[in-house]
Amino acid sequence: MDKISREKRSNNMSKIRGKDTSIEVITRKWLFSKGFRFRKNDKRLPGKPDIVLPKYHTVIFIHGCFWHGHGFCNYSHIPKTRTDFWISKINNNINRDKINIDKLCSSGWNVIVLWECELKKNLEDTMNKLINDLKNSLP
Ligand SMILES: [Zn+2]
Repeated sequence: MDKISREKRSNNMSKIRGKDTSIEVITRKWLFSKGFRFRKNDKRLPGKPDIVLPKYHTVIFIHGCFWHGHGFCNYSHIPKTRTDFWISKINNNINRDKINIDKLCSSGWNVIVLWECELKKNLEDTMNKLINDLKNSLP
């Protein structure tokens, strides 16, 4: 039985979205503090990447594990109610991500995907690795 009202459920889901936003903010602040300059949520590019670093020819997606279907990691549990609905929604997201990343790669962008669980488990290592990757992407 599904006891959560529709209203409450959308509230729960917006809380999940809110968490995603905060890992984006943390990542942007970190990059900014290391001297990187970037655009946010560039609508002109496929998938509206969270961070665009034109100088490095790199776009970064910060993916919430639930919404983007990160395998079986601890942050991507499918709800026990309306399971089919969530599975098909998340599969659509996975397919859309794939198409967007393909488009970006074929127009010459480096694409980096950061996952919520990596950032939450080990922010410092993840960010240091990211910064290394960015430096290596310079010609
Ligand atoms: Zn994950």
